[in-house]
Amino acid sequence: MPKRIAIIDYAKCAPEKCAPSDGICLAVRACTHGIMQQVDGPYDPPMVFPPNMCQGCGDCSQACPQNAIIIV
Ligand code: SF4
Ligand code: SF4
Repeated sequence: MPKRIAIIDYAKCAPEKCAPSDGICLAVRACTHGIMQQVDGPYDPPMVFPPNMCQGCGDCSQACPQNAIIIV
């Protein structure tokens, strides 16, 4: 079975909406594997890195209030 991975829809992602006080992406907080990261800091959209380490667990997707993350 192919590996599942999180994909971010950057058209929907808006850190200033879901985390107006500190800019920390809720999906970053939810990813206990440390794969969802804001490499450019708060208020910047996250990325899945390194992508091959993503577990496809969906915790990030469930935590994102903008439905900006899908698991494929
Ligand atoms: S991925 Fe979701 S929770 Fe994270 S900054 Fe974007 S919209 Fe907010
Ligand atoms: S699917 Fe799981 S491991 Fe992958 S980025 Fe989301 S929370 Fe992290």
